[in-house]
Amino acid sequence: MAEQRMLKFVKVARDMPSKRQAEERRGDFHEIYREFAEAKAAEQASRCSQCGVPYCQSHCPLHNNIPDWLKLTAEGRLREAYELSQATNTFPEICGRICPQDRLCEGNCVIEQSGHGTVTIGAIEKYITDTAWEEGWVLPVTPLAEREESVGVIGAGPGGLAAADALRKAGFRVTVYDRHDRSGGLLVYGIPGFKLEKEVVVRRNKQLADGGVEFVLNCDVGKDVSFADLRQKHDAILIATGVYKSRDLGGPGSGLKGIVRAIDYLTASNRKSFGDDVPEFASGELNAEGRRVVVIGGGDTAMDCVRTAIRQGATSVKCLYRRDRANMPGSQREVANAEEEGVEFAWLTAPKGFTGEEAVAGVRVGRMRLGAPDASGRQSPEEIPDADYTEPAELVIKALGFEPEELPRLWDVDGLEVTRWGTVKADFMTKQTSLEGVFAVGDIVRGASLVVWAIRDGREAADSIIAHLNAQASIAAE
Ligand SMILES: Cc1cc2nc3c(=O)[nH]c(=O)nc-3n(C[C@H](O)[C@H](O)[C@H](O)COP(=O)(O)OP(=O)(O)OC[C@H]3O[C@@H](n4cnc5c(N)ncnc54)[C@H](O)[C@@H]3O)c2cc1C
Ligand code: SF4
Repeated sequence: MAEQRMLKFVKVARDMPSKRQAEERRGDFHEIYREFAEAKAAEQASRCSQCGVPYCQSHCPLHNNIPDWLKLTAEGRLREAYELSQATNTFPEICGRICPQDRLCEGNCVIEQSGHGTVTIGAIEKYITDTAWEEGWVLPVTPLAEREESVGVIGAGPGGLAAADALRKAGFRVTVYDRHDRSGGLLVYGIPGFKLEKEVVVRRNKQLADGGVEFVLNCDVGKDVSFADLRQKHDAILIATGVYKSRDLGGPGSGLKGIVRAIDYLTASNRKSFGDDVPEFASGELNAEGRRVVVIGGGDTAMDCVRTAIRQGATSVKCLYRRDRANMPGSQREVANAEEEGVEFAWLTAPKGFTGEEAVAGVRVGRMRLGAPDASGRQSPEEIPDADYTEPAELVIKALGFEPEELPRLWDVDGLEVTRWGTVKADFMTKQTSLEGVFAVGDIVRGASLVVWAIRDGREAADSIIAHLNAQASIAAE
């Protein structure tokens, strides 16, 4: 059955002209055009009208100099395009793959707005940097001069790594601590490999290590080492720990076997793709193969779960979301991809409980409608009475979003101020927290956000840390 399902998926994916055409328009140049990739990338880049009002650039969180690197690509000057692109983005090939470009740069391209289809900015950014890697233009960091001071970075996600890169370039000694066995944060254990190939992250980790960044992995700060010890050891600290507390569901049967958290499900799948031994995957607990899968939630994490379940050979995959399609938080592009792959969406539905003896057998689903707008102007879902039904399911994945862990309590640290949502309070410009010499970036400050914002924060925090350490050095020299 699972094999049939997979065959069907492979066939559907192969035979789907609309998807293929859409991908060609998006222009994954290396994969699609192979030996003609450079010419095709140049052709796509030359569609940029150099409009002079680069909304693409102002809507990119890194303010990438998009028109100029498109022009260089169109002229075949790829090395210069790469140098320009990497000057503002620490990981351009990663953003090129996974930024929601439809909401950022591409969505604001004037060509798109005039109805002619956006210049495929993300795909070109990816192409430029993938070429740079192939050509050997991406080199480990070599600081002009070494500095004595050291910085401890807690969290090896994109925020922490972007800061580590900039700090190392400035000559500081940098140690990155992470509780996982691999560096990369959600780039390795959250985002699935079909969106972001793991080798792309692994080669960045190696580049940082080759440039002198020290990694201390399998190190859970607050358990294996105390926050206070790290503050003693380093001249500055950056907190970049992300948000990992999954929002949960109650209701009858919510403790049944087979109801799992999205982060556990995706981590197991990602570990598997590294070739790790994953007992929960082998036992079927975190494997969708041959099972009817229901995913609850309408964000990008839910989309990653449904698309992973399809690839694992699920018998069927349904996604329950309490609002309608127009009001879902996830990217419309991702929904379209999921639908093309065979995922069914049950809009305006919400779980009320679960059926089954020991293991889950179904989800009790309430039907919803959109009521009056709330204070924010968004229509609130309300239940339609007596319209429940049971959706059969052997695996239920809860993808309801993430909240921050309680760092001050977990790390036993007084004076680290947090907001009422539990995110760490940090100055908008400097990323300085309420503690002297302690900075914070990424999701742990913003709440669940995007890779590109974490990169921007990391780069800005590095500038502030450098200024802070320079100021300390001048005081010491007086
Ligand atoms: C399933 C999923 C899919 C996503 N898809 C996209 C996407 O397509 N595009 C996009 O732009 N964004 C996406 N995001 C969001 C994006 O991944 C995050 O916004 C981004 O990774 C945040 O970066 P960060 O550095 O703040 O934290 P993270 O990437 O979460 O990294 C934090 C690191 O800190 C470590 N850590 C935490 N606590 C401790 C501790 N006590 N001691 C030591 N280490 C610790 C963690 O192990 C982790 O490695 C997705 C998120 C999820 C969950
Ligand atoms: S970093 Fe993201 S938003 Fe900026 S140009 Fe690249 S793909 Fe677009």
